[in-house]
Amino acid sequence: MDEWLNKKDLEFREWMLDERRRLGIDRAVKAYVSAKETALQKMPELEEMRKEVRLIKEESIRKMPELAKAAMDAIIDLKGMAYLAKDAESAQEIFKEVVGRGKLVVKSKSLTSEEICLNEALEEAGNTVYETDLGEFIIQLRKEKPSHIINPSVHVPREEVAKTFSQLLKREVRPDINGLVSVAREFLREKFCTADVGITGANVVAAKTGTIFIIENEGNARFVSNAPPIHIAITGMEKVVPTLSDAFKVVQVLPPYATGVLMAAYVSLITGPSKTADIEKTIVYGAHGPKELHLVLLDNGRTEMAKSPDFREALYCLRCGGCMYECPVYRILGGSFGNNYFGGIGIIWSYFTRGPEGVAAAINACTKCRRCKAVCPLEIDVPKMVETLKSRLVRDGYSHPRHREIMESIAKNKNPFGLER
Ligand code: SF4
Repeated sequence: MDEWLNKKDLEFREWMLDERRRLGIDRAVKAYVSAKETALQKMPELEEMRKEVRLIKEESIRKMPELAKAAMDAIIDLKGMAYLAKDAESAQEIFKEVVGRGKLVVKSKSLTSEEICLNEALEEAGNTVYETDLGEFIIQLRKEKPSHIINPSVHVPREEVAKTFSQLLKREVRPDINGLVSVAREFLREKFCTADVGITGANVVAAKTGTIFIIENEGNARFVSNAPPIHIAITGMEKVVPTLSDAFKVVQVLPPYATGVLMAAYVSLITGPSKTADIEKTIVYGAHGPKELHLVLLDNGRTEMAKSPDFREALYCLRCGGCMYECPVYRILGGSFGNNYFGGIGIIWSYFTRGPEGVAAAINACTKCRRCKAVCPLEIDVPKMVETLKSRLVRDGYSHPRHREIMESIAKNKNPFGLER
């Protein structure tokens, strides 16, 4: 454990000195903060709406198992397939079973799929997987980990993207942002049309109707969920809310806080597989959209989180990412500290979904400035959860070796400096 913590410390130091990473994050933070402020000024009604969404999330988490079941029943009634995966491994098995081997898979951004290491599992099973969200595509080509939940390649400046695309196309690509977007568009277009399976996340699911909501700006999730003959959506159980009108409220609150837009460019609502009854009123599945629709709801620690009065609030998170941009530590270090969830809220999520090792080093980076709570649309008390988790980690033997030295010195010498009295 100590060896691992020391390794992490070195990794943090490397990130801190990585000027290119800092440049990318700096540019993105400036653009985000000013766009969000403008959006909030234009939508004063958001103030009331975000409070309503908090109440919706409180109710949804209280009823999480019942709502998950209701959503699954509704999807099965619509001739879709629905699964509840208790952990990452069982979720991977479901995907391997549905996707099969030797398939071309296109994916839109999904943190839940990263939580279960889906790409690795599908590739090991002999499939080819393409990320189609631009940021995820860049990260996939660079064999890196995302550094933000909404903008995964936020740490990669345009000059680096140009180098990556030059290697992909084996010709020089200039660091012009418009040109770089066109490169990805041209490269991925053919993949959408020839893919066997499309995999998306879901930002919210309405239990009563079994409707899956996908919010995005690029338009890639529309292709992914519509062009291939099979669509599989994966999301956490906490994303299920009771009704369509509850889900629409989440849809209105999320985009201004996530990207500083009044509304996302695209919101897809999917209620069952594609079908037609235009010939003799006979229902045929798979008209222009996918013939098969599968929803995988992931537990992987969420039930435990929901039962915990100390950490339940983490399940209200909309994954807007706003708290990360505003976090002084994130601005310097960026990254996920080796996990797939980011910032203070990410520490809590990583603890429940991946275990204590991954968060034991990162948790000490928190400065307790409490800014994450102040900017959170749902006022989630992340700092309080971080403090509680820190105590739990120390209790369970996951304290940092330097901290142990200090504690031992205080006990022995009555000072933290290791000096004998
Ligand atoms: S904790 Fe709040 S600000 Fe941070 S990602 Fe979640 S909803 Fe957004």
